[in-house]
Amino acid sequence: MAKLKNQVHKEKLEEVTFLKKISTSHFNYYFGYVSNISIVIWLCTHAFDAGTSLLTWYEWIYISAIGLFLWTLVEYLMHKYAYHVWKSPFERGHIMHHDRPYDLMGVPWYVTLIIVVGLFIGLSKILSPPHLALYMASIWLGYIGYCVTHHAIHHWKFENKLFKKLKRHHYIHHARHGKNIGMVTTFWDVVFGTLEKK
Ligand SMILES: [Zn+2]
Ligand SMILES: [Zn+2]
Repeated sequence: MAKLKNQVHKEKLEEVTFLKKISTSHFNYYFGYVSNISIVIWLCTHAFDAGTSLLTWYEWIYISAIGLFLWTLVEYLMHKYAYHVWKSPFERGHIMHHDRPYDLMGVPWYVTLIIVVGLFIGLSKILSPPHLALYMASIWLGYIGYCVTHHAIHHWKFENKLFKKLKRHHYIHHARHGKNIGMVTTFWDVVFGTLEKK
């Protein structure tokens, strides 16, 4: 029994060490941007056939707008459940960020790559690939915007009023995990009643 306990403890420690190593590596942090931008471009290529767009110009506009808006909801739900409620390596990694907000850390770049590419391949069997590709590309563009905004909140200084508001909003979340879950917008916190102003 004691041996089994030690084994579990050792496995947990190894997992924590590996997770910490990859998610806190500066290479992973910055290469994540290269990988995510490549994912957006790769998805967009599925909206073309031999250089000709499979979507009309107005589909490009309205699908991109809907996708970006959908990102804000995905961000809220992902942050709330995958980072704070469900016990998983994502949750443990995010708590590390709450403890050390100035450290550069992020989800391993290949994990996001596998999830997004896998999701596209799976869903494209039942949905129209060019439409799905643009929806997913604009949602993922929203994710990149979220990463840049989050980096700016913890590392950059701007005198802009909106930026200061978002910064304050997110710092309240760092102190009170169940509040101010949205980051690029306060909209979903108002909708779901998790907005905290002080
Ligand atoms: Zn943060
Ligand atoms: Zn959080």
